[in-house]
Amino acid sequence: MSFVKENVNRQPIVDTVFSIVKKAKEDKEKIGEENVVDATIGSLYNEQGSLVALDSVFSSLKSLDNKVLAAYAASFTGNDDFKDRVYKWVLNGNSHLHHEVIATPGGTGAVAMTIQECLDVGQTVILPEIAWGSYNLMAQMNNLSVKTYALFEEDHFNLTSFKETCEQVMKEQDKLVIVINDPCHNPTGYSLSSQEWKDVIAFLNECSKTHKVVLLNDIAYIDFAYGQKLAKEYFSVFDDISENMAVIVAFSLSKSMTSYGLRCGAAIVMAQTEDIVQELKIVFEKDARATWSNINNGAMAAFVDVIDHHLKEYDQERLQYVALLKKRSELFVKEANEVGLKHYPYKEGFFVTLSMDNTTRDAYHEALMKNHIYTVKVNKGIRVAVCSLSLDKIKGLAKKMKDILDTI
Ligand code: PLP
Repeated sequence: MSFVKENVNRQPIVDTVFSIVKKAKEDKEKIGEENVVDATIGSLYNEQGSLVALDSVFSSLKSLDNKVLAAYAASFTGNDDFKDRVYKWVLNGNSHLHHEVIATPGGTGAVAMTIQECLDVGQTVILPEIAWGSYNLMAQMNNLSVKTYALFEEDHFNLTSFKETCEQVMKEQDKLVIVINDPCHNPTGYSLSSQEWKDVIAFLNECSKTHKVVLLNDIAYIDFAYGQKLAKEYFSVFDDISENMAVIVAFSLSKSMTSYGLRCGAAIVMAQTEDIVQELKIVFEKDARATWSNINNGAMAAFVDVIDHHLKEYDQERLQYVALLKKRSELFVKEANEVGLKHYPYKEGFFVTLSMDNTTRDAYHEALMKNHIYTVKVNKGIRVAVCSLSLDKIKGLAKKMKDILDTI
């Protein structure tokens, strides 16, 4: 007998990030900031090495009336104006499906709610083989099994593996719940082409002839996609989903507004029929009420204010950092290619990931730390957070990393 549920896993979280962040910090204190490469931090940092907090967002937040900050949200699904602006901002006119928006604590809330409410204990959720760690933890906390699809076939999305994985799961259960983290996949930086999305949807439509299909599209980093508005055009492909399928788009203000700590995001539920949307909305609303009750009112109000009154400043400010991110990643990828440091196909986003087997990865990760280079281990790779590394620190880094790899 234990104090917690009998069937919950009681092992501590395997922490692959914060313990390394701490080591990097200690090393910086010991030998000086300039002698350490800290590629662990997954938030956007400026060239001076501090966290980016967009002025347009935080001056809006600070200008709100205290009563707005103090108040509960208008409903368990969020404020109407917030839901309206989220839908318009995210979809940008690219969807004609029935929809509902449910405000959530970050993208985490949207992903967790979907995984928790769409599958029964013992069922299987389909995840990418290399992925944000929280997906697996969410599956574990809900007593779900996990099946993964390989992400790449050479430099492209591995549709074959995706199909095989779905087909295996379809033999065991009557429903598919699939996570696709796109665009700007964490941690590889891959984004599916519109043809790849069309192929995915065409296949899922086939699956939906016999099985219910829930596609969870985690778009956490979308507002840093290099194509910006063009990167949202793939949503129009969802207009072709069948009537036995739902799409849930998980949106995060953490990245879009650089407001990680305000804990605000949304689940955008979309389907061909109002019935499907309402079924999901009703259950999600109850899940919200039973867990976090309602969402940070100030964060929702600031998002609305930014979209309605400060869009130009917000766009200008964000685009400046999108351009910086592009410069950083281009520099790292170019130098990596020049020295033959193998990485997964990177298109855009916060991270570049070096590809290797897990045995090499473990030895390499240690060797990098001995050389004062701090990175994060991911399945089959080493994640380099270009989002928080200055251009100065990136210059020459790939060569150093390749030299260390050659000693393993
Ligand atoms: N999805 C991915 C792939 C992420 O990397 C993150 C955060 O790191 C999230 C979702 C959720 O972030 P938040 O809950 O802060 O919005």
